[in-house]
Amino acid sequence: MNELERQLHYPMGDALPEPGSSLEVAPGVRWIRMALPFVLNHINLWLLRDEIDGRPGWSIVDCCVSREESKAQWEQVFATQLQGLPILRVIVTHMHPDHIGLAYWLCERWNARLWISATDYNVARLGALGPTAFGGDAAANFLASHGLNDPDSVAQIKARATYFPKLVPAVPAQYRRMADGDVLCIGAHRWTCISGYGHAPEHIALHCAELGLLIGGDMMLPRISTNVSVYEVEPESNALRQFLDSIDKFKSLPGDTLTLPSHGKPFTGLHVRIGQLHAHHRERLGEVLAACRAKACSAADIVPVLFTRALDLHQTTFAMGESIAHLHALWFDGQLRRAQSADGVYRFQAA
Ligand SMILES: [Zn+2]
Repeated sequence: MNELERQLHYPMGDALPEPGSSLEVAPGVRWIRMALPFVLNHINLWLLRDEIDGRPGWSIVDCCVSREESKAQWEQVFATQLQGLPILRVIVTHMHPDHIGLAYWLCERWNARLWISATDYNVARLGALGPTAFGGDAAANFLASHGLNDPDSVAQIKARATYFPKLVPAVPAQYRRMADGDVLCIGAHRWTCISGYGHAPEHIALHCAELGLLIGGDMMLPRISTNVSVYEVEPESNALRQFLDSIDKFKSLPGDTLTLPSHGKPFTGLHVRIGQLHAHHRERLGEVLAACRAKACSAADIVPVLFTRALDLHQTTFAMGESIAHLHALWFDGQLRRAQSADGVYRFQAA
């Protein structure tokens, strides 16, 4: 546990659900944990006791990436954790592959409806179409314009265009929209949708006042800070400002809310965590501003300022996205000026 985590409380201690099993975190709310084939090696998924159109069953929140190991683990859950009841709906917090990957399979397997924000639904459908949607040449050109322009990296990023469709081979052909402020009746309880920006196009977290629970998705994580990146499809976005404004929406929730995060363990101390995330990014912004006072910096120059450990190319592209997000926050704020040099690279200097 790191120093900041000590300021939070993990009511379940070190307990983790076994693969193929689940742990009850509140009446009718069960925690599933699945392995991911990444550095971030697991995701939390949730089972909510439900009833739709007079049929008792369960709602699922988030799906894991599409691969045989995850399907097998789901089958084990279906066989042992559902008390003989069906899955009635599939709720997806946002369109990242670890969350939406198996939605097509789950919805088909159970004839269940997908619930997701309209924005994330459409972006995911586009991504699943194939290699021309995200990444590839557009991503390589974008990152090159921010200084990641050595020919080797550019070639490797261009070749990586199949990343999304590999993990999300399909998206259900129909969905039901969730939007900020919508109330979902899930079993005996009401859950309110809270939109969040800066991590995914339109992330939906779910709050249940009666149970004192927040399904935080990736917008509220206890240990790691949420990835906040600028991507090629929206090259001038102010993702960090959007993220910080979004997490402030959770300030109005009760202080003893139990947050169910997509990665890490259920925790209380929501308001403390919001403060920690603001402090974390404030500090990073200070470092970026200091670097840009010393000289005009591209995002590639900022990567080693923000990330001191060695990064492989995949991690470097994430680090680039985060670096651009921090530069943009200061640029939109008027603290940095942006100029494009003759080499086509954007550099930022203290205004
Ligand atoms: Zn995510």
